[in-house]
Amino acid sequence: MIHVRNISKTYHFPHTVHALVNVSTNVEPGEVVVVIGPSGSGKSTLIRCLNRLEIADEGHIFIDEIDVLDPKTNINKLRAEVGMVFQSFNLFPHKTALENITLAQQVVRKRSFKEARENAMALLHKVGIPDKANVYPDHLSGGQQQRIAIARALAMNPKVMLFDEPTSALDPEMIGGVLDVMKTLAREGMTMVVVTHEMGFAREVADRVMFMDEGKILEVGPPEHFFTNP
Ligand code: ADP
Ligand code: ADP
Repeated sequence: MIHVRNISKTYHFPHTVHALVNVSTNVEPGEVVVVIGPSGSGKSTLIRCLNRLEIADEGHIFIDEIDVLDPKTNINKLRAEVGMVFQSFNLFPHKTALENITLAQQVVRKRSFKEARENAMALLHKVGIPDKANVYPDHLSGGQQQRIAIARALAMNPKVMLFDEPTSALDPEMIGGVLDVMKTLAREGMTMVVVTHEMGFAREVADRVMFMDEGKILEVGPPEHFFTNP
């Protein structure tokens, strides 16, 4: 589903940093890959390259049939197919939860309002907060906002979901609810790449764990390879 071949990314400002150095990997359909490694090791850069939030300097990236680095590839289509959830929720503050989920469906997927709304309601049920449809983001907890952000990405029917430290900005009591939604997605067969410090999630859900350091993937293997059982 995801093919990454020999990609590199160097930032030139404020310092020269080789954030990714000749990285190659594959993610199979339905696979959940958890990316771990020290701060600054290139985890975020790697997954941001997958939906062209960063542009790799060289190499090839294919998501299913999509050539990510081809300048002719439609960026809105790419970002619909490759859903992304960030540490910060980035919801539109002046739109309700439901509107946050319907908006892109109408614009990018050209769905009717009725269709987008039905789909959004189903997704609000899926992420466990159907009662929050008409609530604005600043009246929702961080965990609820993150679940809306996940629903918004899912509304595009993505082929792949990327998560960049999705629970790092949350109060501890909010983390479980977000991880539960992610576990459900994994069980349903979503292809996922997840940067997280939640080692319990990695042990329980990951098909493979990828350890990065200094812009390289140093080790990839099943979670048992990285974590001894408690
Ligand atoms: P991680 O996600 O593992 O913490 P990042 O991919 O965020 O690592 O960063 C890798 C390296 O690239 C770090 O040294 C970081 O400071 C640098 N870096 C990341 N983003 C940028 C940017 N937009 N401009 C300059 N340097 C960056
Ligand atoms: P691997 O055997 O390592 O799993 P593949 O045989 O799947 O790799 O892919 C072989 C080559 O084809 C890779 O260099 C990859 O970048 C490229 N490739 C993968 N998917 C596509 C695609 N959908 N369209 C065009 N080229 C692709």
